Amino acid sequence: MRRIAILGATGSIGASTLDLVARHPDRFRATVLAAHRSVDALAELCARFRPDVAVIADASCEAALRDRIAANGAGCRVLAGPDALLEAASGPHCDTVVAAIVGAAGLESTLAAARAGKRLLLANKEAIVMAGALLKAALDDGGGELLPLDSEHNAIFQCLPATRTSLAGVGVRRLLLTASGGPFRGRTRADLGTITPAQACAHPNWSMGRKISVDSATLMNKGLEVIEAHHLFDAAPDRIEVVVHPQSIVHSMVEYADGSVLAQLGNPDMRTAIAYALAWPERIDAGVTPLDLLRTARLDFEPPDLDTFRCLALAYAALRAGGTATTVLNAANEEAVAAFLDERLPFLAIAETIERCLDTVDSVPASDLDAILDADSAARREARRIIAAL
Ligand code: NAD
Ligand code: MG
Repeated sequence: MRRIAILGATGSIGASTLDLVARHPDRFRATVLAAHRSVDALAELCARFRPDVAVIADASCEAALRDRIAANGAGCRVLAGPDALLEAASGPHCDTVVAAIVGAAGLESTLAAARAGKRLLLANKEAIVMAGALLKAALDDGGGELLPLDSEHNAIFQCLPATRTSLAGVGVRRLLLTASGGPFRGRTRADLGTITPAQACAHPNWSMGRKISVDSATLMNKGLEVIEAHHLFDAAPDRIEVVVHPQSIVHSMVEYADGSVLAQLGNPDMRTAIAYALAWPERIDAGVTPLDLLRTARLDFEPPDLDTFRCLALAYAALRAGGTATTVLNAANEEAVAAFLDERLPFLAIAETIERCLDTVDSVPASDLDAILDADSAARREARRIIAAL
């Protein structure tokens, strides 16, 4: 029986994970459920899934959560505050941690789970973008394993040999990351001046949280995923290519030295990737509609438009710059996306804000957590200054 902590239980990945837990009560138990401040949603999940521990990261919500849990009879322990997240991620209540908090807020709990040797199911791509080397060192120290939940990385993981050590050793030439192109594929910059948050969040194929939906619309999501692939698979930036594939059926591909290209296909439903990681190395029913290729009929591929979608080019540049440049990229993006969702920043100014932060905030070696957190704060200050002045 896997005992699973779900950090970000009230979000989109949290819901898909809990759907799988409910389908396989003989295999999985959700022992820890954690959320930011959605008290009602968390209390309801606790009544349904009966975890040992509920964590609310915003300590000001603790009393309200205790009241709800006392009233609904869920009977779990309640912990509150950011330190409680770390305790829950590394403590004895779980052997598996689903890191599904959105943004930099998930970094420290992800590191804590890795250091504690948990099986880490990583959705929180911002953590690996901010602190890839640190996360890998924490995994080595803890001796646990990381299984990617991001559908592209999960697909690549499925297409690599089980005994892989490094890409070179198994004859891999390139990783081909597929991108849907988001809701604005085919548009020019002139079309994107007046985009609203509702338009940006209306993804054609996937239903996701608001932050990642905006990232998909700017193609920053693919940029973050290039950096994620670099760390997860030890792949040099030149070996990671982005291919726009509007149907979102091929979730990514691995090209080998002999000319073979292996792909993982399926309907766009995150439960496939999550089920693979939860049950690995076994396969289980995920409740996903089987792929009907005759109905799909076409699989199209095209190059990304890096002039219109500047964020993808900025992510490659930050990855090549190294050090804390990717931490700066991520922090500036989080600030810009939050301002866009708040209608304080135009859509096209997201890339402009990030570019200006990368120009002005110096990159230093990403040697320890303090260096990462300092770079994150400096980039956020600079991004807020730029956004306020625009
Ligand atoms: P979401 O907005 O739906 O949910 C976010 C969750 O994080 C919520 O449970 C929220 O309570 C929690 N949270 C937010 N801030 C927090 C804080 N300060 N402390 C503790 N908890 C906090 O987001 P999502 O779409 O589920 O995405 C989660 C992560 O997974 C993101 O990093 C995203 O990039 C990644 N991801 C998502 C999808 C998807 O299909 N949704 C696919 C691939 C990767
Ligand atoms: Mg993805």
